[in-house]
Amino acid sequence: MRFTKITASIGPKCEDRETLTKMIASGVNMCRLNFSHDTGDVQGKKIDLIREISDELHTPVAVMIDLQGPKHRIGNFATEDKYPLTLGQKFTFDSDATPGDGTRVQLPDADVIKSLNVGDRILLNDGKIEMTVDSVAPDKIVATVVRGTEIWSRRGFNLPDTDIATSALTDKDRADLEYAITKNPDWVAISFVQRPEDIAEVRDFITARTSHPIKIIAKIERPNAVDRITEIASVADGIMIARGDLAVEVPFEQVPAISRHIIRECRKMNKPVIMATQMLGTMVNSEFPTRAEITDVANTAYLRADSTMTSEETTIGINPVNVIDTMSKILTYADADAIANPYDWSRVENIPENDWSRSVASMAYLNRASAIVVFARDTDATMQISCRKPDIPIVAVCNERVVANQLCLLRGVFPVFSDELFAHRDGFNAARRFGVMSGKLVIVDADKISLRTLD
Ligand code: PEP
Repeated sequence: MRFTKITASIGPKCEDRETLTKMIASGVNMCRLNFSHDTGDVQGKKIDLIREISDELHTPVAVMIDLQGPKHRIGNFATEDKYPLTLGQKFTFDSDATPGDGTRVQLPDADVIKSLNVGDRILLNDGKIEMTVDSVAPDKIVATVVRGTEIWSRRGFNLPDTDIATSALTDKDRADLEYAITKNPDWVAISFVQRPEDIAEVRDFITARTSHPIKIIAKIERPNAVDRITEIASVADGIMIARGDLAVEVPFEQVPAISRHIIRECRKMNKPVIMATQMLGTMVNSEFPTRAEITDVANTAYLRADSTMTSEETTIGINPVNVIDTMSKILTYADADAIANPYDWSRVENIPENDWSRSVASMAYLNRASAIVVFARDTDATMQISCRKPDIPIVAVCNERVVANQLCLLRGVFPVFSDELFAHRDGFNAARRFGVMSGKLVIVDADKISLRTLD
């Protein structure tokens, strides 16, 4: 039984019915649709297909749409596509739409110029170029090159030291979200979150348009979001450690420590957490993972994160189904080992002794229970119990499909969508569906917690 879930990015190499069916059958728990690439009906058709396959396979699968967010790019150059840079040279970024040259280029986003301060770093092209801001004027920034040898037109840039005074949603995100809401996604991921207010802004946008209970994932990829992780995790419904941009915006050697910190904070705040990016990256071109990738995936399970995530290895890789099989195999083994060699969870979290979810986990532990069964009207109680990491299956019996889908993301949670089992409070048969045939069950139904014996 695999406790750590798999989120798979869906793209050109895996969006046909046959491949997607095999991937879901191999263990994908959540599909990520990245709106940086396709939008509108093209993504809508993929959502329909995922729902159809989920029905055919009788397997709940969550759908997460991932909004592009304010990914900043410099403007175009006049004649050449790239210009050489020398260390110590001055380079100007301005609001002039005239194509640039080796000394200046446009920064199309006015909010960015307004937000930069003297001394801030500007990182271009995944950090290969670094400049430091020397002077700021209302429509112009002058910076000095401290790393890099050439600058290309339209390259993305990161501003690790800058609080960018911009909305969490760009015009493109608003249009994408407006459309996506009509397809009832289970989760929406917001890119480049900077502050807790960003989550509130997106939630207001959603609730003004639908009563469908869409949950929000905050992607953590900026240092200012890392600094405010506890506040952000308290208002978001889940967190993604977006290591791609994060490793550009913070010194790369800090990424593992930051990831551990985020996982701990999410556990305290009862929120699920996804570890993302380059987990099995070499499998874009290879049938086998590297030893380092195997260890990275396994360590995510040992850290009790909720989900790993695939990126290009499933969207454009040579064998997306093999990627899911490989990830599932690594996680299943690491989960079993983590459970066989447990550690004292009370040492790593800050939950009061009398917290009810801690009592559920203690009751299960002290009675050597085989499973916890939760009758889940919504996601709250199950999320809280999952965050106590009880290391036995949590069977969540749901009478709402969206709740079952959303719970797919949570570590060790096995949702069952069944009106009948829910109506009859049939915890025994729900547990049997997951191969739990005997032993003690801790049953959670609203505020009642009981211990029953299944035989
Ligand atoms: C990341 O940066 O790690 C990430 C998941 O975001 P995106 O793929 O949208 O850049």
